[in-house]
Amino acid sequence: MTPKQVLQLVKTKKIEFIDCRFMDFPGLWQHTTYPVSELKEESFTHGFGFDGSSIRGWQAINESDMLIVPVADTAKVDPFYERPTLSLICDIKDPITQKSYSRDPRSIARKATKYLKETKLADKAYFGPEMEYFVFDQVRYDQGVNHAVYEVDSAEGVWNRGRNWPGNLGNQVRQREGYFPCPPMDTGHNLRSEMSAIMQELGLSVECHHHEVATGGQAEIDLEYQDLVPMADACMLYKYIVKNVAARYGKVATFMPKPLFQDNGSGMHTHFSLWKGTKNLFAGRRYGGFSQMGLYAIGGILRHAPALLAFTNPTTNSYKRLVPGYEAPVNLTYSSRNRSAAIRIPQYSQKPETRRLEFRTPDCSSNPYLAFSAMLMAAIDGIQNKIDPGDPLDKDLYDLEPAEREAIPHAPSELSEALDALEADHDFLLQGKVFTDDVIHYWIKYKREEEVQALRQRPHPYEFCMYFDI
Ligand code: GLN
Ligand code: MG
Ligand code: MG
Ligand code: MG
Repeated sequence: MTPKQVLQLVKTKKIEFIDCRFMDFPGLWQHTTYPVSELKEESFTHGFGFDGSSIRGWQAINESDMLIVPVADTAKVDPFYERPTLSLICDIKDPITQKSYSRDPRSIARKATKYLKETKLADKAYFGPEMEYFVFDQVRYDQGVNHAVYEVDSAEGVWNRGRNWPGNLGNQVRQREGYFPCPPMDTGHNLRSEMSAIMQELGLSVECHHHEVATGGQAEIDLEYQDLVPMADACMLYKYIVKNVAARYGKVATFMPKPLFQDNGSGMHTHFSLWKGTKNLFAGRRYGGFSQMGLYAIGGILRHAPALLAFTNPTTNSYKRLVPGYEAPVNLTYSSRNRSAAIRIPQYSQKPETRRLEFRTPDCSSNPYLAFSAMLMAAIDGIQNKIDPGDPLDKDLYDLEPAEREAIPHAPSELSEALDALEADHDFLLQGKVFTDDVIHYWIKYKREEEVQALRQRPHPYEFCMYFDI
């Protein structure tokens, strides 16, 4: 869509407001709304002024004047507002230099795509994330502690897995077996169909939706793969739709990676391939139907994985998901079949155009622009430096003997480890000036101070369970 077409759409749909969307540094959508009379053709180049000082991870208060510049191609008639409103994703610019703001994640993603072309290795990077989430009943804050999360199961001496069962438990469905059974076991079907229908109305290409393995309302709706920036835009829209449809039904959706102890977490397995024209560069005759280039890309991702996880798994909660036994990867290995490996080469189809790697570590607490860009940069580094990924590991990694398991490199076990790894290993991200030193160091500082330390300094609810009666 061009700016002229957007202005035309505004007329035909009788739009009254323009809702400008952009994200803070960690990756939460923010918005400001303008009466439609403010939108002119030049708004798409000149943007709108706004105060960037209160956005997490952005400018200091003394240099906070910024521009948000709507991107015509992202215009959508918003289905959740009562007054007719057009939403537009925006790029962020500095009003003085007119340059893209270097901490704007979308600008980093655009630079990553440009850098890929400059390397001449490939002209497109396709990403296909499988975004999982939970739907819970809303708990009103004025009802005190959120029992859905904090209730202690006295029988097992562990936290309840999150279900706040009412008195009579006779009709309780079997736990963790509600993956594929039809309704009435699958209670989330209508909600997922509603979400998927709205996604399609807004131009997202839905491949399928299904219940996920965990107790209660875990779900997944899969989108067709796309180029990096439009796919990251789609991830933001996906989360917005999931959360808003859930809210309409009096529910709440969360993309937190591990909301329930002793149950599956929510991942964002990311399928990834590089293309030149119509040729999939990862298809070949080596292991798993992969090309040598594809294997080097795996080598790059595995080599840089500890640092990469600071972007693909960037929350303290991310590491509560990366534990054995819940289909989330713990080891930094690859395999064509094995779902306990960090990278899998799916074998559903033998057609070369379907060949891709599936990086299973990422989760939806990541900022998709930064996560995909960092993955791409690690893959490019692997290809350029011919990083050998070693031998695949086709055994079930969860069943290995302790000594065997020790020998396999494993994912960081906490966010602080991933941040230390990023501090020590980030040259691959600085190539082509895609990530800047400021972005890397500010990310580390922000995450250490605002999340790692913030959690460390607070008495944890489970400490009450362990120590209150000491
Ligand atoms: N929820 C699992 C994870 O955390 C994945 C389950 C699946 O899609 N097979 O990665
Ligand atoms: Mg899936
Ligand atoms: Mg899944
Ligand atoms: Mg998967």
